[in-house]
Amino acid sequence: MLTRIRGGMIATEEGVFPGDILIEDEKIREILEPEAPADDAEIIDAGGKYILPGAVDIHTHMDLEVGIARVIDDFYTGTVAAACGGTTTIVDHMAFGPAGCSPWHQVKEYHRLADGQAAVDYGFHGVLQHVSDAVPDEMARIAEEEGITSFKVYLTYDGRLDDLDLMKILDRAAKEHILIAAHCENHGIVTYRREQFIRQGKTQAKWHPVSRPAEAEAEAVSRLLYLARAAGEAPVYIVHLSTRQGLEEIRKAKAAGQKHFGAETCPQYLLLDEHLYDDPREGLKAIMAPPLRRQEDRDALWGALAGNELDTVATDHCPFTFARQKQQGAQNFTKCPSGAPGVEERLILLYSEGVLRNRITLPQLVKYACTNPARVAGLYPRKGAIQSGSEADLVILDPDQEWTMTTGLLHGNSDYTCYEGMKIRGAVERVLLRGKTVALNGQFTGERGGGQYLRRGRSSLA
Ligand SMILES: [Zn+2]
Repeated sequence: MLTRIRGGMIATEEGVFPGDILIEDEKIREILEPEAPADDAEIIDAGGKYILPGAVDIHTHMDLEVGIARVIDDFYTGTVAAACGGTTTIVDHMAFGPAGCSPWHQVKEYHRLADGQAAVDYGFHGVLQHVSDAVPDEMARIAEEEGITSFKVYLTYDGRLDDLDLMKILDRAAKEHILIAAHCENHGIVTYRREQFIRQGKTQAKWHPVSRPAEAEAEAVSRLLYLARAAGEAPVYIVHLSTRQGLEEIRKAKAAGQKHFGAETCPQYLLLDEHLYDDPREGLKAIMAPPLRRQEDRDALWGALAGNELDTVATDHCPFTFARQKQQGAQNFTKCPSGAPGVEERLILLYSEGVLRNRITLPQLVKYACTNPARVAGLYPRKGAIQSGSEADLVILDPDQEWTMTTGLLHGNSDYTCYEGMKIRGAVERVLLRGKTVALNGQFTGERGGGQYLRRGRSSLA
């Protein structure tokens, strides 16, 4: 079956140009000149619209169990939200399993949670929550057998790895070309401040960002990069970078010639301000780690995107309900489940607040939200590209629509969005997953289980 997307402006990381896209079954067959003769394809009219590669979000937490709460989106509802927002591929970060479990435990658990449920294509990052003699071998085997070619480590929380554990993992990762994604916050700084604030009765939301200062991120980013270097330039990926100080550590490593590392930021660190925590009730909506930061941090991160110093923009989609789950923190921010929704909002926020405000270009948006995430995840050019042979994951974006972001228009299970009331220009009109329309004008038209599990290749950073 042939489908032709006609009359649109194709946006890639290279540029924006007029062209038609001919889809045969699940793949892009070729890019045609706009005037190329008609064929017997079914026509999708994209006149006056942009056509982007389906967006790739390599940092989500569907169906995550965090002990004090479980995320409100499962792999179905979370990927319906993804699809409606123009994201056709996710790579999900697993929860920690039972203490002492093998990394295989969560691989099996996540197939149980996602297979037959996900509405967009999906992969997993493995998680390493302790390091026994067997764990590096198991990591290598999971990469081979499951196509899970990246693993997450935490430098804080109960499942954190210390420097010795990290060296054991990084040394093996360098040899096997496995990407180690890291949550970078210094555990001692955060733990000391949280315990101190609880003793002092400083338990309102406004103390949350103070308990996780920029120094905690910068120290952990720096340490991770030095350890990676000491392990023979192990490939590492810094998730959810939030501060100017953390960015400075990345610049230092680059200036020193270090390769095989990358960094991600998220819309919340580009667009939202730590003053949201001043309201003790509303502030709970934005309890997340790392916390929201200051204007100067946002400016620095936008500047780094404009200057091509970062690799990706992901979401850290980790939704809870405000009415119920977030209220666990009403008297004490340390009891509030940490995370916020965002998988559906990302692409259009980057367009409306990024491209249209001249903070980044449209090709840069495509690079950060579609193409580079596919590269980092080992999915390029199968995903994240508009070229012959790539899977026909496409977003038709209408630049002329104006609307107001509000929870009722979104598709996830959470009862709020951090961007409530924001005026948006541009809208995701149609989303295709492997040639099939899975979202149209804000309605999900795909199916439960329509997403395929992605066995990934090696990361471009590895
Ligand atoms: Zn996360």
